[in-house]
Amino acid sequence: MTDNKTFQQESSILYIVPTPIGNLGDITQRALDVLSSVDVVAAEDTRHTGKLLSHFNIQTKTFALHDHNEQNKADILVERLLSGQSIALVSDAGTPLISDPGYHLVSRCRQAGVKVVPLPGACAVITALSAAGLPSDRFSFEGFLPPKTKARKDKLQEIAQVERTCIFYESPHRIIPSLEDMLDVLGPGREVVIARELTKTFETIQGMPLGELILWMGEDENRRKGEMVLLVHGYRQPGEEVLSAEATRALTILVKSLPLKKAAAAVAEIYNLKKNALYKWGLDNLD
Ligand code: SAM
Repeated sequence: MTDNKTFQQESSILYIVPTPIGNLGDITQRALDVLSSVDVVAAEDTRHTGKLLSHFNIQTKTFALHDHNEQNKADILVERLLSGQSIALVSDAGTPLISDPGYHLVSRCRQAGVKVVPLPGACAVITALSAAGLPSDRFSFEGFLPPKTKARKDKLQEIAQVERTCIFYESPHRIIPSLEDMLDVLGPGREVVIARELTKTFETIQGMPLGELILWMGEDENRRKGEMVLLVHGYRQPGEEVLSAEATRALTILVKSLPLKKAAAAVAEIYNLKKNALYKWGLDNLD
């Protein structure tokens, strides 16, 4: 159901406002309405946000709220909210609080009884997951991997047998060491998807077994540039069949003219797979 009531600015509200992760067309009308009408925009980097606001011809004043001053500045903002002002919280890109500042402010607002209104919008983890082709029914977002190898491998050990999709943010200068540690801990067969430069000109979404992905990344320096999200397929129990997109596509076509059991047997023979795995996939995924 939709409720398209026009935006009406209310007092004493903290709005959580996502901003684009690359493509300025991804800001919502509601985000623009809120940013134009609040008393102040609390921003991770006021210069960066200033450029975004001026692009959209918005004159609202900004207030710096970043990782290093958040605990102190949050108190000032809560006071302003309690005195009747409304504030929009933004980060440099995407959704505030998601590997970005804002947690302390939101937590204090809720403790103080200040209403917090979240706007939906751009977020790299969800954008990447929606196109990665990895199971999306259960996933966990793990933020950035630690910068040092020992801590990074410990973290990877923690998720090595987790069956849901695990998602990490990564930076270009750490992508290769991180993939190499993943290779050591998770093995060459683990499927990993890299989603880089989402919503931008050089957007690339590439998925393959880890051993191959590292080679692919090494072939061209451009593949290691820009902002990136790493999505790791969950742990599969030993013997759990990996069905390629080609095999499931063949089954989907054959099942239109054959019973599922026969179609699964034919595809199993062609692709050297177990027919039970195809039969089960058919039951789970086809009408
Ligand atoms: N709050 C943001 C969000 O909602 O996605 C994330 C901020 S975090 C400081 C920045 C990281 O997000 C980058 O290092 C990268 O891992 C990921 N990221 C942001 N924009 C991206 C994009 N356009 N494509 C791929 N990854 C992106």
